[in-house]
Amino acid sequence: MSGTLREIDLFIGGETVRSISGRFGDVFNPNTGKVQARVQFATDAEIARAVENAKAAQIGWAATNPQRRARVMFEFKRLLERDMDKLAELLSSEHGKVIADSKGDIQRGLEVIEFACGIPHAQKGEHTQGAGPGIDVYSMRQPLGVVAGITPFNFPAMIPMWMFGVAIACGNAFILKPSERDPSVPIELAKLMMEAGLPAGVLNVVHGDKSAVDAILDHADIHAVSFVGSSDIAHYVYQRGAAAGKRVQAMGGAKNHGIVMPDADLDQVVNDLAGAAFGSAGARCMALPVVVPVGDKTAAKLREKLLPAIAALRVGVSTDAEAHYGPVVTAAHKAKIENYIQMGVDEGAELVVDGRGFSLQGHEDGFFVGPSLFDRVKTNMRTYQEEIFGPVLQMLRADSFEEALQLPTQHQYGNGVAIFTRNGHAAREFAARVNVGMVGINVPIPVPVAYHTFGGWKRSAFGDTNQHGMEGVKFWTKVKTITQRWPDGSADGGNAFVIPTMG
Ligand code: NAD
Repeated sequence: MSGTLREIDLFIGGETVRSISGRFGDVFNPNTGKVQARVQFATDAEIARAVENAKAAQIGWAATNPQRRARVMFEFKRLLERDMDKLAELLSSEHGKVIADSKGDIQRGLEVIEFACGIPHAQKGEHTQGAGPGIDVYSMRQPLGVVAGITPFNFPAMIPMWMFGVAIACGNAFILKPSERDPSVPIELAKLMMEAGLPAGVLNVVHGDKSAVDAILDHADIHAVSFVGSSDIAHYVYQRGAAAGKRVQAMGGAKNHGIVMPDADLDQVVNDLAGAAFGSAGARCMALPVVVPVGDKTAAKLREKLLPAIAALRVGVSTDAEAHYGPVVTAAHKAKIENYIQMGVDEGAELVVDGRGFSLQGHEDGFFVGPSLFDRVKTNMRTYQEEIFGPVLQMLRADSFEEALQLPTQHQYGNGVAIFTRNGHAAREFAARVNVGMVGINVPIPVPVAYHTFGGWKRSAFGDTNQHGMEGVKFWTKVKTITQRWPDGSADGGNAFVIPTMG
């Protein structure tokens, strides 16, 4: 059977390369449950070859003036728009998210490319004329050299572009290790970057699992690693990369809460929640899987409105234009979600809507999971403490604003959070005090725009620099500061044994 399967190659030095490893990962079509391709896992030597190519190519790329680097980004953006439909279909066929949502995935990456088009401005240094007598101080942001990105399955277009868009615009060469579950779009992105005029070797894609990640983390010529994935692996990547002397940012999992104040517009909340909890089958790090109504009256009204909204959700194949969400990525992921639902029942939460056992006619082997709703979830339950990453909404009831505020604040994850209210004072207070990195006020999925910056707190992110925006430019560059003096020959030398001051 493997003879007939499509194979997904590596991309090194500007061309597709067949790995000699003999190790592969299965890429499923989640709509049918069948393996549709297999992805070749790179050997350590192949990864080292990618780094060699990148190292050689980076010198010329860094010396290319920033306007010319930006022009590659402008052209890449045009090509993404040209190929949007094709890319979205490919993405949807491996991930399972519906076509419109797949376009959103690409569009969100494209917006980072738009930001990267402004790199001549964003990468400018600072200058102080006359910091002392005849002395000027200026700084420049230089690229790091060869850098790498390791990405998760749930945004196979956006997250690679968060990383390589900014890193490459800054003059680095890049090694991308995308998720082995849906690796085809990242390869297409690399080909489009070449078509846009990027020199061969500046962007390389290697596939694999832990072994490829370790080879990247241990490689002495890779100077920075950006990781997005689950928290335990993020922490591991952070530690191992830092131990090897690299700059590391490692984004992890999430458990985002939506606080619903008694004065919120509940119709709006239910509409927002349906999309934020169940869209993309709940597999978004900025999904809203926990809703916290404040007061029993709010909870009762919210539950009453949620039930018909959940019943109206259409689960379908990812190409169904009417479907709200499609299948999850693999059978293992489906089993994990269903196990969490059983655990929630065993822990004593009230399972109001049970999405297990969902079957789509004609696609009985697809990885579909119906929507689920739990009520009366408690903070000591594992199903609350851990990330489920599926179409499961959990309701926790709080008696007061203060109690509601403490839930996301004390949770191990701190990626995103939302508050729904008409009270500006409550919203302002919430935003200032909550211990979470990204806050939505009447916005259910507060993913910041590309020229701002994305990053959670606590176990949702290790390292201290965010993705994209100016934080991204900071992560992918190092600052050099120059203090220069052009003496006119008349000054006395001063006391050279005292630390110089400008006073
Ligand atoms: P994952 O952690 O399983 O995989 C992420 C990457 O790590 C992949 O490239 C994978 O090949 C690699 N990997 C897998 N096992 C490894 C191991 N043992 N050692 C080293 N590397 C390994 O994550 P996933 O299932 O692909 O993605 C879902 C997770 O990503 C969720 O937890 C989600 O919340 C998180 N996520 C976070 C953000 C964010 O910005 N905070 C964004 C998107 C997704």
